[in-house]
Amino acid sequence: MFLFLGLVPDEGLILMSKSGSLLRRYKVRVTKIEWTDMVWDPITGCKHNCPYCYVRRFMKDTTPTFYLERLTEPSKRKIPTKIFVVNKGDMWGEWVPQEWIQLIMEQIMKCPWHTFQLLTKNPVRMLRFELPGNTWAGASVTKQEDCHRIDIIRATEKPQVRYISFEPILDFIEPNLSGIDWVIIGAETEKAAHIPKDKELSQKFATPLIYKVLNLHIPLFLKSNLMWPIKIQEYPT
Ligand code: SF4
Repeated sequence: MFLFLGLVPDEGLILMSKSGSLLRRYKVRVTKIEWTDMVWDPITGCKHNCPYCYVRRFMKDTTPTFYLERLTEPSKRKIPTKIFVVNKGDMWGEWVPQEWIQLIMEQIMKCPWHTFQLLTKNPVRMLRFELPGNTWAGASVTKQEDCHRIDIIRATEKPQVRYISFEPILDFIEPNLSGIDWVIIGAETEKAAHIPKDKELSQKFATPLIYKVLNLHIPLFLKSNLMWPIKIQEYPT
């Protein structure tokens, strides 16, 4: 006989027997970001000043800040989870103190049951670290000039997965994707959904890239905001 206990913070949905023993945990996505399960923001703030920045829309102050009290959040979550590290900023920006990154790396190593998705516009800084085996190393690429970041991700030491997020896709891009294990493609947050011209443009830029990725048999995740006629949301195996 089962007893359903509902949603438990940091644990997901829990199913217990009448005698009180744990039967099963179900993972629950606790973020709107489709390609991850939860976000962890021990650092916020950014100095890249991207013109399409979504963070500035809801954070007035984007001064880089470290939150010591958030550091142990992943260790409290017992169910294996894909965790996107630093959504509201870039933890690999040159302005981020080395000690902050070191503290985050230590926490990642203490939680081998989780997968930590790292994403940056400054991947060269990742090269100064040996990334733990439970990390995925990714770079954002929005146009052709950013493609040097792909070469840097290819050179990162020991992540489990190397990936590229073409989001928002702002132009036609012809990247070299050898050695890349996963690709995300998306439009500008919210914009394509509301402005038909932007939707058409994003799809136009994305189309040749989608075919390229499919031909290379690289797992592909298309964000819903691209409104591509076929839903493709794959993960690396
Ligand atoms: S890297 Fe991200 S957080 Fe930083 S300015 Fe660009 S969009 Fe905003």
